[in-house]
Amino acid sequence: MDDSFRFADRWGPAKVIHVFEPALALKGVLVVDNVARGAAIGGLRMAVDVTTEECFRLARAMTLKNAAAGLAHGGGKSVVIGDPRMPAERKQRLVRAFAHALRNESDYIFGPDMGTDETCMAWVHDEIGRAVGLPAALGGIALDEVGATGWGLYHAAVAALPFCDLRLEAARVAVQGFGAVGRHAARFLCEKGAVLVAASDSAGTLVNPGGIDVAALIRDKQAGRSVLEHAHGEKRAADAVLDVDCDIWIPAARPDVVTEANVDRLKTKLVLQGANIPFSPAAERSLHARGVWIVPDFVANAGGVICAAMEYRGATQAAAFDAIAERISDNTQTTLGRAKAERMTPRDAAFAMAVERLQGAMATRRFSIF
Ligand code: NAD
Repeated sequence: MDDSFRFADRWGPAKVIHVFEPALALKGVLVVDNVARGAAIGGLRMAVDVTTEECFRLARAMTLKNAAAGLAHGGGKSVVIGDPRMPAERKQRLVRAFAHALRNESDYIFGPDMGTDETCMAWVHDEIGRAVGLPAALGGIALDEVGATGWGLYHAAVAALPFCDLRLEAARVAVQGFGAVGRHAARFLCEKGAVLVAASDSAGTLVNPGGIDVAALIRDKQAGRSVLEHAHGEKRAADAVLDVDCDIWIPAARPDVVTEANVDRLKTKLVLQGANIPFSPAAERSLHARGVWIVPDFVANAGGVICAAMEYRGATQAAAFDAIAERISDNTQTTLGRAKAERMTPRDAAFAMAVERLQGAMATRRFSIF
């Protein structure tokens, strides 16, 4: 039996396209999962080990994230198999060839993801015109430079703190992964009175219960130094960030960092998920049972894609930041309010919210099962 349809369920995927160009040894996949809300937006990932299944799972995550964020976009994802550190000339040829092969797939808008960046999006834009996350020279908003996702995490915190009986002033923040997402989240939170007590990167964890100078640590990171080279604070192993006593814990590094095996080490009242799928479902249930509030990834970290969708419509950075603030505040309140009222986990509440928004759009389609 042909298993090409093994992923199919009532949401999608609408299309799975394999791209092969023997002259360039180009192998890639596009999954357009669901377009009921509009053309799919999702990143182009380049990695040596990406599979069609991973592409589908990432595309589905974008369907839910975009629906939850109230965007007029569906979810999709594309992957090219290859080492993203390959010579720039070869990378350009592959990205351009992949975009060209998909030139007629108007249901999909390319964005940057792991292994691709704004320069890659400029090549896609040059080939077919459908790309977000563009350089400023092409009207793009540099979302990692301005901190679009960190700005969203800040608003998720403001909306979530009353559920934890906490105030932002003097709230102690620990950040796992002081990269584009983590450092901007720390900056926005600390500008309003929170205190950064720990920050980690792949080399280790910096801990200072008296408060880390966020601006100075950002300067260190921008100069290419690890958090361990910062002058003030205790230096510990990378995973020691799990043990830090804090009020807000922000995973902003890798997937699957908290599981049943280490969840009991967390000493926090609120988790804001900056990274995608940072916790296993069992770890989330365990924290929920302990009374720790979690703002799930696709609610909390939607700032980047909201910014990208605004960019696609020619909006300014200021307008994009207003949209991020409004949508993430509302969605955090809706998610946690529903979780509290209906005694469910925040992830289940967020999933229900996203599915309702998706179903509402799917009910208007020519072939509707809703
Ligand atoms: P980044 O590469 O700029 O930063 C990641 C940071 O994590 C780096 O400082 C790295 O040293 C650190 N790190 C890696 N492994 C670590 C470990 N084991 N322990 C501690 N730190 C570790 O990436 P980013 O753009 O900030 O993205 C972070 C996460 O957020 C990713 O999972 C990404 O998929 C997700 N995300 C990013 C955006 C965005 O707008 N950039 C939006 C949504 C979700």
